[in-house]
Amino acid sequence: MARPRIPFGRFAILTGLASTTPVALFGVLAATGRLSWATGILCAAVCVIALATMVRRGLGDVYRILQFSDTLARDGEGDMPVHEMSGMFPEFTEAIARLQQAWGRDRGRLGARASSAETVLESLPQPLILLNADRQIVRSTVGTRALLGETVPGRDLSSVLRAPEILETVDRVIGGGDDEPIEFDIEFPTSMTISAHIQKLLQPAADGSVAVVALFDVTEIKQVQKMRTDFVANASHELRTPLAVLSGSIKTLQGPARGDEAGQLKFLDMMEQHTTRMTRLIDDLLSLSRIELSETTMPEGEIDLTAVLTNVVAMLDVAAGRRNINIVLEPGLGDHRITGDEVEIAQLFQNLVDNAVKYSHENTVVRIATQTCLNPFAITGADDSQYIEVSVIDQGPGIPAEHLPRLTERFYRVDAARSREMGGTGLGLAIVKHIVSRHRGRLDVRSVEGRGSTFTVYLPASIEIPRPPA
Ligand code: ADP
Repeated sequence: MARPRIPFGRFAILTGLASTTPVALFGVLAATGRLSWATGILCAAVCVIALATMVRRGLGDVYRILQFSDTLARDGEGDMPVHEMSGMFPEFTEAIARLQQAWGRDRGRLGARASSAETVLESLPQPLILLNADRQIVRSTVGTRALLGETVPGRDLSSVLRAPEILETVDRVIGGGDDEPIEFDIEFPTSMTISAHIQKLLQPAADGSVAVVALFDVTEIKQVQKMRTDFVANASHELRTPLAVLSGSIKTLQGPARGDEAGQLKFLDMMEQHTTRMTRLIDDLLSLSRIELSETTMPEGEIDLTAVLTNVVAMLDVAAGRRNINIVLEPGLGDHRITGDEVEIAQLFQNLVDNAVKYSHENTVVRIATQTCLNPFAITGADDSQYIEVSVIDQGPGIPAEHLPRLTERFYRVDAARSREMGGTGLGLAIVKHIVSRHRGRLDVRSVEGRGSTFTVYLPASIEIPRPPA
């Protein structure tokens, strides 16, 4: 530490004040003849020199401590100049040393608190980004990195959020504008809809942060909202056609067709067809909503799958026979059972076999092949849990590959006109998907255009029971 500069004026005044009494005393002694003038002047000079030395050392200590406190205020730390102190005011030095220790402890505590606050902030699952006044990233949470990938401190916000809407809003809020929630789409790292709240801090933080951006991934909520509105629009559209036919037919029966027996029969027949269509649509909608409601709870009943498939074949055989389509239930399942809801499993295979019959060419065969297999979900061969595989194989027109990923969406049809002509509601495969998912199974669709389609359902096998000999 550099030597403190002691102001001469202050040194002179203090020395003068301290010397007044001894100089006056020696003056009086010399004047009254008790001392010679020479001895009096010598004694006074010795006293002044001794007092000046003490004053200089005392002032030196005071200015050293002042210098030390300046260093502490500027750098936050510094060494107490103990070895240079005169020891004239030991309590003063000890008090300063204690103050320094307490200060050091507080600094340590504050430092630890600040770094733990930073650690807590950075490990938050909520995506948050702290920005400085130049819109650069100061820090971000682990949730941000999970949502947007790596964020580099010091880079502009646009390095992670490439959407002009959010950048403009952030600029406005940093510039003192109102903070308001904003929603925007990004394409990188994946296509997402994000809702953001930007909040300016009451005062800039020590790390330079002036604003915090909170992000919420609302992609799924948006998709669900869209699905809901699409669903309502589609369901209304499906009901509007039969209702229009019914209302038109009623008007015709009341007017032009009155008294025309053949015409009346034609219109009544049409009304019956469309009433049946509406009933089927409402039945399918109700099934779908019932299955969706219970989708998270695994069913508990025990099902004899062979018996269920035999019933499904018996139910659809007559309709298939009308188009000379042969439904063949191949042996091979053995005596396996599955855990499930019998009504739902019957509906699942009824929908698949019904589709196979509906969309197949006349004079063809629909095969139902069954076998046991290992877990089709297992990534390695480590999982040897048993599954039952049921494939419904037809020789129909097949389904173009681009339609396969959307086939199980509600009201999705490859050929809408053909589906309606065959009495389809567009909900059959959506119902299948939900039943399979409730039973913790899996649906696979393979199709070759012009050759036919294979819908395969995998369901977890239950216990094997001995079947009584036929
Ligand atoms: P739909 O009531 O129209 O049959 P689904 O949900 O059962 O509704 O099927 C959706 C669409 O998938 C059908 O409209 C049809 O275009 C196609 N599809 C389903 N199964 C078959 C199949 N076995 N062969 C050809 N196309 C099929």
